[in-house]
This record gives sequence, structure tokens and C-alpha cells, in this order.
Amino acid sequence: MRNRILVVGVGGLGCPAALALAEAGAENLGLMDPDQVELSNLHRQILYSEKDLGRSKAEAAADYLRKRYRPLRTVPIVEALNAQNAEKFISAYDLVIDGLDRLEKKFFLNDWCVKMGKPFVHAGVVRFEGQVLPVLPGQTACLRCLVPKIPPPFAMPTCQDAGVLGSFSQAIGYLQAHEALRLSENRGPLLLWKVNAQERQARSLISRRNPVCEACGQGHVENEMTRPLCAF
Ligand SMILES: [Zn+2]
Repeated sequence: MRNRILVVGVGGLGCPAALALAEAGAENLGLMDPDQVELSNLHRQILYSEKDLGRSKAEAAADYLRKRYRPLRTVPIVEALNAQNAEKFISAYDLVIDGLDRLEKKFFLNDWCVKMGKPFVHAGVVRFEGQVLPVLPGQTACLRCLVPKIPPPFAMPTCQDAGVLGSFSQAIGYLQAHEALRLSENRGPLLLWKVNAQERQARSLISRRNPVCEACGQGHVENEMTRPLCAF
């Protein structure tokens, strides 16, 4: 497997994904998050407990995983991904996990991973709907192939407005880790997972690249992270 994995966003998705990757034998996990642990996080962000309240998520997650999975190396990165540090951090790892909480950040990470040819696994969850998309840049569809433009805030329900079940976001995080392992071991086709917990449906779909995708097609865009859409 690709053993150096960067988890960008260690929240409702990043916590279970990092845990599963550590369990599977990852040797080096970068854990990137600028936020602190809050009481409202604890029911779904499973790497933290009450003793971590107020601590950096990146450092608390790194400590938890390093103690539990020796000789795993964990690197806490208490920074938000931005245009100044994206190349430095993404280039230091073999594979990237998108555990981010806002759509514009997810597009920003998508565009950088595509630009750098870095394999990554996108995931998102709102209320009862979740999706996971493993991406091999230049070979499979990226997030922007499926959604060319970031939807405006009024067009998308947010986690804050619609809510998200802790058990369901964990399930999607574990599925994200599973797809990361498949991707890193070149096992089978890379498919888009769409899961609906309300209807109890899970589908895997073939996603085709968009030849005029602005990220992996002929053009390229870099997003500004300005408008919050979704928070875990
Ligand atoms: Zn694309």
C-alpha cells in the first residue's frame, strides 16, 4: 500500500478514515487540521475524548493513533490547507484523504491533487446521504468532472442545517479508507459510491472523465476558500 497518507481534515470523516488506515498498516499518517476539539465533536469524531477538549485536533489524533498503533509515525499539522502550503504538504505524501468539511475546500483540494497528479479519495456526507470518490488524476474522474462548479450556498443543504448522524459519517469514513486501500493496491476499477442511509441503498457507479473538466481537462482553476457550505 502507499504508506505515507495525508488526512486533510480530522473530523467526522477523517477520524474513522485515519483509524482504519492505521489499523490496516499505514506507516506514516499526516493529520492536518487547524481546529480544536469541541464538546459537540465527541459523538462522531471518534479519536477524541473529553480530556482532549480545547486541544488541537491534529495533535490529539496524532497522539491517540501513535500510542495505539506503534510503530506508526504520525505527523500533526496544525494548519489549514491553503495556496501557500498545499504543494509542500501534498507532495510529502503518497495519497491524500479528503476529510474536509466545506465544499469549496474540497474543490480546492481536488484541484491541487489533480494538478500534482496525487491520488486521493474524496468523501462527503450530509444527513442521510454520503458519497465516496477515489481519484487517480489523469486516469479517472475527479470531483470537478462530476460537479463542474461549486454549487451556491442556497442550492446545497449544509451539515449545520440538515445535520449528520455520527454513525453514518463514521460508516462513510471507513468506506473512504477502504477505497484508499483499494486505490493504493491497484485493486479493481475505481467507482463512485453513493449511499443513502434513509433508503438503505448503496450503489457504485462508473464515473467518466469530463474532457472539458477545468481541473483534469484542458483548463485549470484554483478556488478561493471563501463561502462556508457544510460543517461537521
Ligand atoms: Zn476532472
